[in-house]
Amino acid sequence: MRRAFHMTKRLYYEDQYLKEFKSKVVNFNVDFLVIEETAFYPGGGGQPYDKGYINGEGWSFKVEGVFEKDDEIVHKGVLEGREPNPGDPVRGVIDWERRYRLMRMHTAAHILGYAVKKLYGLEVGYHGGMLSINESHQDFTARIPRDDLPKLEDVVRTVIKNNLKVKAFWLLREEAKRYIEPFGEHLTELHEGIKTFRIVEIEGIYAVPCGGTHVSSTGEVGEIKLLKRESKGKGITRIRYTII
Ligand SMILES: [Zn+2]
Repeated sequence: MRRAFHMTKRLYYEDQYLKEFKSKVVNFNVDFLVIEETAFYPGGGGQPYDKGYINGEGWSFKVEGVFEKDDEIVHKGVLEGREPNPGDPVRGVIDWERRYRLMRMHTAAHILGYAVKKLYGLEVGYHGGMLSINESHQDFTARIPRDDLPKLEDVVRTVIKNNLKVKAFWLLREEAKRYIEPFGEHLTELHEGIKTFRIVEIEGIYAVPCGGTHVSSTGEVGEIKLLKRESKGKGITRIRYTII
C-alpha cells in the first residue's frame, strides 16, 4: 500500500542539545523506522549520523544508522519486541556522548576553517573533510607548511579561549550570499537549487552555510590538538586533529 507523503520534523534544528524526545510512529518496515519528528541527525556535511534508541510500549528499536530519503528521515536498526504500528507513541534517546563529541568536533572544524583563512587569506577554501569520534580531518586549498601547525593551533586555541557564541539561523539565498561574503565564503555548485540556507556563525568572525549540529559557544570545544598535516597535491593540505 502506498502511504502518504510525510515530511519529518527535524528537532535537532530547534534544539541542538535535545537528548530525549517524544513522537509517534509513521511507518515501520523490517529494519526501517520513520517517526513524525526526530532529534536523530541523519548525517551530512562530514558529520556522521546519530545512534541511540527509539522505544515504544512492548518494543525497542536500536538505531544504528540514520539517513534522509526525500523529505523523510529514516532510522535503520534492530527491533526487539513486538512490531511497531503507525500512531504508536515513542520516546527517542540519542547516544549523547557520541553526538556531543561530534558537535564539539564540528565546531572545531569551523574554527580551523577560520584560522586557515586568517593565516593564508580569505580566498582559501574548505575542500572536504570528515568528522569522527576519535580523529577528524579537514582539507583546505592552501599549502600549509608543517612548521606552521603550532601557529595555526594558537589561532584555534585563542578562539576557544575567547568563548565566542556559535549561532545558527536561516537566510534566503540572496541574503545568505551577502552575509557570508565578508568571511570569504561563497555559494558553490553544491548549493544550486537551494532556496534557504542554514548559516552557522562563530559570532563576528566566521559564517558559513552548514546543516550540522554545533555547540553553543567555542569554549565548549575544550582542548584541541592538531595532529598532522598532509599534502594532498594540487595545493590541497589535510589537517588532522582531535579534541580531548
Ligand atoms: Zn559545518
